[in-house]
Amino acid sequence: MDIFKVFTLEAAHRLPNVPPGHKCARLHGHSFRIELKVSGEPGEDTGWIMDFSDLKAAFRPLYDQLDHNYLNDIPGLENPTSERLAMWIWDRLKPALPLLSEVVVHETCTSGCSYRGP
Ligand SMILES: [Zn+2]
Repeated sequence: MDIFKVFTLEAAHRLPNVPPGHKCARLHGHSFRIELKVSGEPGEDTGWIMDFSDLKAAFRPLYDQLDHNYLNDIPGLENPTSERLAMWIWDRLKPALPLLSEVVVHETCTSGCSYRGP
């Protein structure tokens, strides 16, 4: 069974490795929508896989690093595509959240990426 929690954050970026003239080379921002999925069996007594507030607390330090920031300045996000952002979140969150099963990054309403770890 999966549970998920959705976060929204505002951040600026530019993509340094796109072909000359590509619009993503210019500084711009997105209202990113991050979906974190956690998988497991609901506890016999609790009836839940985990407390949503614990999920929120685990993501908090990463959220604070990303929200209202310039992603390119963050170590590991020098080329901040949605794919790299999903991996960046996974790598840092998985140790604190072993049941994490998927990170979904929506960079626009119609474009995004999902990552299910190594
Ligand atoms: Zn962009």
